[in-house]
Parts: sequence; structure tokens; C-alpha cells
Amino acid sequence: MNRIISLISILVSLSIWNTCTESAYVQDKLVRLEPLTEQHLDYLRSLEDNGSLDFWTEITGSDRPIDVHIPANEYDQYVSEFKQYSLPFHVLVDNLQESIDNEQRELLQDRLMRQIQGRWAGQPRASIVGTYARYNDMVAFLQEKAAADPTHVEVFDIGRTFENRIIQGIVLKFNPSATRNIWIDCGIHAREWITPATCIWLIDQFIAEYNNNDATTRDLLNNWNVYIAPSLNPDGYEYSHTTSRLWRKNRSKRPSSTCYGVDLNRNYPWKWMTGGASSSPCSETYAGPSAGSEIETVGVVNFLQSKINTWDMYMSFHSYGQWWFTPYGYTTNLPDKAPANYATLEAAAKVGAATIQTFNQRKYAVGSVSRLLYIASGSTVDWAYDALNIPYSYTIELPPTQGDSAGFVLPVSLAPGVCQETYAGMKTFLAEVKKNLASSSSG
Ligand SMILES: [Zn+2]
Repeated sequence: MNRIISLISILVSLSIWNTCTESAYVQDKLVRLEPLTEQHLDYLRSLEDNGSLDFWTEITGSDRPIDVHIPANEYDQYVSEFKQYSLPFHVLVDNLQESIDNEQRELLQDRLMRQIQGRWAGQPRASIVGTYARYNDMVAFLQEKAAADPTHVEVFDIGRTFENRIIQGIVLKFNPSATRNIWIDCGIHAREWITPATCIWLIDQFIAEYNNNDATTRDLLNNWNVYIAPSLNPDGYEYSHTTSRLWRKNRSKRPSSTCYGVDLNRNYPWKWMTGGASSSPCSETYAGPSAGSEIETVGVVNFLQSKINTWDMYMSFHSYGQWWFTPYGYTTNLPDKAPANYATLEAAAKVGAATIQTFNQRKYAVGSVSRLLYIASGSTVDWAYDALNIPYSYTIELPPTQGDSAGFVLPVSLAPGVCQETYAGMKTFLAEVKKNLASSSSG
């Protein structure tokens, strides 16, 4: 009887939750642009700088497509501009709200099944591994993992958010004499839902495989303390769940502007505002009023700095596009548009990317941000590499590729596959990094 009552309460709460989401994107388009000339690129950069258009993929070069989200009421205006510039384009998604509604419906079904399975099995809560969980459920997951093995697993606080949430992460410390650390973060951009799901999957699988005596996992976790932060932007992430699915920035607000939010991945205190970031508070790439202005940035900066010179690897997960990036983003004025140890960085990334490709044939492009894309300053990867001297610093843009699956709106049914292949890629990549570090210290 208790089980039946709890199932009814699940159904009621889910139907209430469903009515809370807005229909803000009716007839909004996802459009693919195919710039051919420098004039096209200049035009698009000006649109990004003044914040008038929402870019879903970065402005790259004249041979690479760019996906943009165009609100329904601005579509005709943009079409006439594109035609005026002879800029080729086509519509990938005709009604974004429909993609979002489908995603929501699938997510509700997924939640319902998980809750029923959990209650039936007598679990205190539904599993969140392989789905798009809410922030509080992710924090509860971290706490449960720590409670299950307090000797080796600890929750740590990174700091507060603008709306006063606590940003929490987890550290896996299986070897009490390990002195070197690695860092993995997810969710700095709110709408990239596949990334927190990936961090949760990594935590779950690292612990499970360690305890099941997986040789590679034991080797990695005995070598490093592994710090994983599943959401660096909980305010924005929650807002993308409750109110505005395509929200990217944090939720800070200053009296000087009517617009909310700073792009946290343009706010880091290294080569801040030196290109590929906007000074307009309404832009999706608004870098903030000053370097490190955001409380979320300050928390991460202070935490990593408190353990400076102990970090061997920094990884920040984003979506989408299937890119595995090395520094630098802020400059192209270097040989190869990349740092001195670029060949080593690239080789290790290629090991991980090759592993991922063995799943579903999913291909990643590997290289420096500024080499593969365009300038983007104030990002975590440059800061980690230069300000913190972390030799292996990367950003990964998870699936889909440009234009597949309505971009950020990746159906939750595809999430476990993406998480699984990414976990496999991370393992072989980290094993390669470990091998490189061992040979460089012995040589
Ligand atoms: Zn991102």
C-alpha cells in the first residue's frame, strides 16, 4: 500500500512540475550559417559582440558552419540581412520549443521510471546516473557517495553563487599517500545539460570500478586525488530547468543593466577581455565588469589556487561540437597558435579521442582553441594553464556535432551513451598523461 501511495505522489508531483516550464521558444529557429568570406565573419563577430544573437557554436573560420538561435519575431529581419550579405544559411530546427517539449516529455518519463524503480527497490531516492538531474539531487548524490565511503570520498565546498547556493564538488582519495591532484569540472554554461550528467557518471564509475578492481581505474585513482565539480554554475543550471531552457550565463544582476548574467567562461582572471568576449551585459559572451568579478569564479580560483603546484591535469567539460581543446584561446600570435608543450598535449588528447571513436564512431577534432576556432579570452583553460601552471589543461565540447539533435537539447535517451564513451576516453587519456608525467620525472 505504501508503495502505491508513493507512486501516486510521484505522478502528482511530476504533473505539477510539468506545468511550471515556460513555452518561450515557440517558432524560434536553429539556423546553420555557412560563412564564406572575411566580411561574413566580421558581420557575425559584430553580432556576437553586441549581444544581438545567440551563438550555439563558436565563430570558427570561413570554411566552418556556425549554428545560431534566432527568436521567431526576429527571423525575417535576419533572413533579409543574411541575403543582403549573400551569407548562405539553412534552417536546422524550425520550432525549438517543439524540440524542448520533446526533451521535457522524455525527461519526465525517465524521471518517473527512475523513481518507480528506486521506490520498488527500496532505495531512498531515484538514481541520477545517466540523466539530467536537478542541482539539489546532484548535491545529495555527492553526499551519499561520501557517506558510503568516508575514508576515500569527501564532499568539498568551492564557494557560493550569486543566489547563495553552495557550489560543491567531490574528491576521490583512494591512496592516502598520493600528493598529486587532478581537476574535472562541468556545467559552467547552464544549458549544456549533458556536462553535469557526464561528471556524475565519472564519479559513479570511478568509484564503482575502483571497488571492482578495474586495473586501469585503480592505477589512476592510486596515482591522483581526483577532484570533480559537476556544476560550476548552479544558479544558471537551475534557471535552465525551471524557466529558460537555453540560458547560458550565471544569474548575477547589476543595477547598471537590465540584463542578467555573466559568461563565467569569459570571466577568468587571465588575459581577460582580450578578444572573443563581450563588454555588453546583454551579450551571451558578456565577460563581466572586471576580471574575476563573479562570485562563482572567485570560488573556483581560490580553491584551485589553494592547492597550486599540486595539479597535474585540468579538464572543463562543455557542449557541443565534439572538440577536444588545448590552450590557448586568447591568442593566435604563437608558433602553431599553441603553447610550447602543444605536441604532448595534443598526443594525449588524441589517445582519448581515439577511444571515444571506438564507440558509435563519434569523432572529435583535437587542437588548440584559437587554432581550431577563433579567439576566446578569459576562459578557464588558459587560466588553468598559464596562471596555475597546470601542464595538461583542456576543454572538451561533448556531443552532438553541429546541428545534430538540436544542439544543447540532446535527448536524455542519448545521455548514457555519451557519458559511457566519454568515461572510456577519459581513462585512456589519463593513463597516457600519467605515463608521460612518469617518464618526464624519471628522465
Ligand atoms: Zn560551454
